[in-house]
Amino acid sequence: MRIRRTYNNGDYNKALRLSNPKLNKARDKKFFQDIICRSLYNLGKYADVISFVNEHNLETHRSYEHKSTLKLRIQDYQCPSPNLHADKKWNSTDLISNWHQEESRIWLRHPWGWTYWDMPDTYQIQNTSESLLYLALEVLLNPFVDEVSNHEVKKRPFGSNLALSFSGGIDSTAAAILLPKETILAYHKRSFESMLSHELAEILFDKMKAISGRDVMSIPSNHEKIRTYHQLPNGFSTEFASASHLILLADHLDLNGIAFGTPIDNTWLKKGKQYRDFSEAAYFVKWRKKFASAGLHYVLPINHISEAGALKICRASEYVDYVNSCLRGKNHLGCGKCWKCFHKNGPLGRPLDIESKEINKFLHQKPLRTAQHALWAVQKMNLNDRYPHLAKYLEEDLGWWENAYPPGIEIIPEEWRSGVKDNSEMYLKWMKEPFDLENVNLDI
Ligand SMILES: [Zn+2]
Repeated sequence: MRIRRTYNNGDYNKALRLSNPKLNKARDKKFFQDIICRSLYNLGKYADVISFVNEHNLETHRSYEHKSTLKLRIQDYQCPSPNLHADKKWNSTDLISNWHQEESRIWLRHPWGWTYWDMPDTYQIQNTSESLLYLALEVLLNPFVDEVSNHEVKKRPFGSNLALSFSGGIDSTAAAILLPKETILAYHKRSFESMLSHELAEILFDKMKAISGRDVMSIPSNHEKIRTYHQLPNGFSTEFASASHLILLADHLDLNGIAFGTPIDNTWLKKGKQYRDFSEAAYFVKWRKKFASAGLHYVLPINHISEAGALKICRASEYVDYVNSCLRGKNHLGCGKCWKCFHKNGPLGRPLDIESKEINKFLHQKPLRTAQHALWAVQKMNLNDRYPHLAKYLEEDLGWWENAYPPGIEIIPEEWRSGVKDNSEMYLKWMKEPFDLENVNLDI
């Protein structure tokens, strides 16, 4: 009881001192382990939490191990800051004043620190419309800061060029193939060290240049660190943050639209497993309007195509040997062990370690990620027998999943609609009515 009281009073050092000698007593072992783990965490001794959880095999405290790993990652990262503007604080009333430029680096002061983008030499933030700067703030900070969502701003007129937020993976390569050849391809390059490798994407960019003369613009940035201030791993704050570089560049590149390689799995299907009428989805309507007020069409050139359809397009294209969605690949090859390798590289006939821990874990998890596509991949690779728990979803032939969904064409802005339609037909068949897609409602 005394130990519990000490812990509750916040004296974690003392709680540790009292608990440690008692740890080896069989009685109340769980209680002492719990106090030690929590005390270490509250004292910020994250490396000790991780070794304690592992040493004692504390399955009940894995969440502490996970949280500590994230904390360490944040602590490890030395966030760079600007030279001239280093003392500036976040301004929540004059939001635009949080943007700065030093040489070709654009700095954003946000409530927790600094984020930057390395822009082309001739880029000038002072020539960038306020509506773009507001939109960029919103896609980066919207989940964490309320004030960035409410702003009245002068509408920017539409420009003349289309750009694609291009990752070099299967989906965005399929999008690049369906859009006009002159579409600007722009890669967000994570500028800090992580598990993620740029190698496979950069091989593809070189080949695209060699094969079809298409350049890929690459913009380094560390904005994926913003969400780590909220105990989340590195990544995009919102789906649209993946195009924050293009939003900032929209005047510089005279853009009239930004395209995203978002497949059916995240458009007409909700979380890859339930059909919805995406053309009416609040999310789609809201963001289309927000982009339009910044003079940008929100373009979804593969909204009518599944990940399986995107694979089919890439397989038939001149980039087939170079496009790869694996983020851990090396030496021109995917790692063969990750989830992306399972559902993207596997169906392409590339080497796969089907015993991989990650693949088996994800296939047994509920909810099943990108469920409809994962089921198709299992069936496509004749792996049904390995996963009897999925049997009832694999009885029907899922071949329809490779075809394109005609109503999706209608939500592509008119300027690109017929081009995307014609190009889709070069690679894919159309789904037939009644559409199987509209019956997808997986509880899995
Ligand atoms: Zn992989």
